[in-house]
Amino acid sequence: MRRIRSANTKLEMAVRSLAHRLGFRFRLHRRDLPGRPDLVFPSKRKIIFVHGCFWHQHRGCIDGRTQKSNTRYWFPKLSNNKKRDKRNSAQLNRLGWKRLVVWECQTEDGKKLEQQLRAFLEP
Ligand SMILES: [Zn+2]
Repeated sequence: MRRIRSANTKLEMAVRSLAHRLGFRFRLHRRDLPGRPDLVFPSKRKIIFVHGCFWHQHRGCIDGRTQKSNTRYWFPKLSNNKKRDKRNSAQLNRLGWKRLVVWECQTEDGKKLEQQLRAFLEP
């Protein structure tokens, strides 16, 4: 658990520093929004979640596959995460927020990540 959490923080930092470098201003972890989004761009009404592929079960991604060992331990947790993500995104939609999920595997290629952020954040 601790390992996964610190890995997530690292991912988040990568996305944060890139967004910052591109000149976008944002706030972090607004508790008043469903799911406490990682990055919040209030003036644009846009938010970014940075998701670990395993933890949030990235579909079609090799790292999103549930481990064969310990399935009984992981499965309920992961499926709860998925349900929670779905619920949060529906709520955010209703509140008029546009949302982008940056997956762990998408942070490996800096160029692509930059394109992704620009496409989402630029008007
Ligand atoms: Zn992935």
